[in-house]
Amino acid sequence: MSTVSCEHFEEVADQIVRLYPELAAREGGGLQARVAALVNRLDDQFLKMAIDAGAEEIAIAEYVEKSLLVQAGYFESFPGEGLMEGAIGTRPPAACYQCYPQLSGKVLGESGLWTCVGTCGRNERETGVGRLRIFCMREIILLGSAAWVREQRARWLTTIARFARSLGLQVDLVPASDPFFGTGDAHGRKLVQQLKELKMEMRTRVGESIGLAIASFNLHETFFARRFQLRLRDGTDAYTGCVAFGLERWAMAMISKLGLAHALTVATEEL
Ligand code: 5GP
Ligand code: ZN
Repeated sequence: MSTVSCEHFEEVADQIVRLYPELAAREGGGLQARVAALVNRLDDQFLKMAIDAGAEEIAIAEYVEKSLLVQAGYFESFPGEGLMEGAIGTRPPAACYQCYPQLSGKVLGESGLWTCVGTCGRNERETGVGRLRIFCMREIILLGSAAWVREQRARWLTTIARFARSLGLQVDLVPASDPFFGTGDAHGRKLVQQLKELKMEMRTRVGESIGLAIASFNLHETFFARRFQLRLRDGTDAYTGCVAFGLERWAMAMISKLGLAHALTVATEEL
C-alpha cells in the first residue's frame, strides 16, 4: 500500500475549500486528512497497475542535489524556471529524474518498466485551480527500443483513459508541450516536442478549469540514455518514456465530480 508523505496537503485542502465551501463546513478540520487518504488510495491504484504490468518499484528521496538536475539537462530544457529550494536541498521538479541514476550502468536487457512516487516542487508564477507548488507525482518509466516505448505509451494512454472513465471522470487526450520551455534553444525543442508528439496530456475539468492536466505521457527518445548511460543488452542507447500522474489533481477532479465521500468510496472500490 502506498503512503505518500502528506505534510504539504494544506495547499490543496485550501483550494478545495475555496472551490467547495460547503465541504469545509462539513469536514471541519478533517479535510486535509481525507484528501490525503484519497491521494493515497489513488496512488495504490496506479502502483497496482504498474506492478501488474511488471514494473519494479524504485524508492526516491524528497530532495535532490542540483548536480542531478544539471546532469538531467533540466536547466537547458527549462531555462530560468524556479525550483523549490529547501533547507536541505532542492525539491525535484519531476519524480522520474531520480530513477535514471539508479538504472545507470545496470544490465537493462531489452526493455523494462519501473515506478516511483514522490513529492515534487515547482516554483510557479501562475496560480489557479490545481496549480500547487508542492505536489505528489507517481511515475512509470518505460525503457526499451523506440518501437517498444512507443507501443507502451499507447498502451498506457488507453489503460489510464479507461481507468479515469471508470472513476467517473471525463477526459481528453491532447498533444502538448512543456509549459516551462523558454526561448532560444529550448524554444526549438518545444517546437520539436509538439511536432513529434513527444508529450500527450490527459486533461479533465476541475472547478472552473476545464482543461487541467492530470497525467502526461512523455517520450524522451535517447535524451536520458545519453546523459545517464542507459544501454540495452545490444549496447545501443535505450529509448525512454514516462507516464506521470499529478495525484492531488486526480483527487481534486474526483471531488469536483463526485463529492468527497463518494470519491473516497469509488477510489477504494477500484482496488
Ligand atoms: P509534467 O511533467 O507533464 O509537467 O507534469 C506531470 C504531471 O504532474 C501533470 O500531468 C500533472 O498531473 C502534474 N502536475 C504538474 N504541475 C502540477 C502542479 O502545479 N500541481 C499539481 N498538483 N500537479 C501538477
Ligand atoms: Zn517523468
